[in-house]
Amino acid sequence: MKKPAHDALRTYRDKRDFDRTPEPAGESSEHKSPETIFVVQMHAARSLHWDFRLEIAGTLKSWAVPKGPSGNPADKRLAVATEDHPLEYADFEGSIPEGEYGAGTVLLWDRGTFRNDGPRHGQDVSLEEAFERGHLLVWLEGQKLRGGFALINSKLGGNPKNWLLIKSSKDQEMDPEEDVVNARPESVLSGKTIEELKDTD
Ligand code: MN
Repeated sequence: MKKPAHDALRTYRDKRDFDRTPEPAGESSEHKSPETIFVVQMHAARSLHWDFRLEIAGTLKSWAVPKGPSGNPADKRLAVATEDHPLEYADFEGSIPEGEYGAGTVLLWDRGTFRNDGPRHGQDVSLEEAFERGHLLVWLEGQKLRGGFALINSKLGGNPKNWLLIKSSKDQEMDPEEDVVNARPESVLSGKTIEELKDTD
């Protein structure tokens, strides 16, 4: 039996006090668009990281990427699996108050649609199945991240939460020489940098 999306969000809700944080509680798991979405949120919490999220099975499957994504296929970026987030989280930018889970500033760094790019061994594998197997191949149509990416559950150091996020070398959608997180630090929602967002708190 597959768990319904509202159960998938239990950990997310247990960690948060929605009277205090401006983050969405995720009441509806309805998605109106026929295309699946992805989002990357730069998160200046205790330590800076980029939260990479893919819409799979009605929720946002999530990973925290300490160095942020890279458009260079030679870079293998550690991506630590975190709790599922509600689809509404894809619109969130703002500040999580001091003392709350994930306290700090969240900047909407990239957003767009994506598709499954991973027919393996001549067989189609659904996104949900690929996620469970720990081997996702996706094609991103973002404003900054574009083209093929792999997410591999490497379990580095014996930790099952450890995945790797790697740009595919089979397309030229991104300039491998551009350090995309530093070259394009601005929000795709507000155009602000993380410092400018902090100043408006
Ligand atoms: Mn985070």
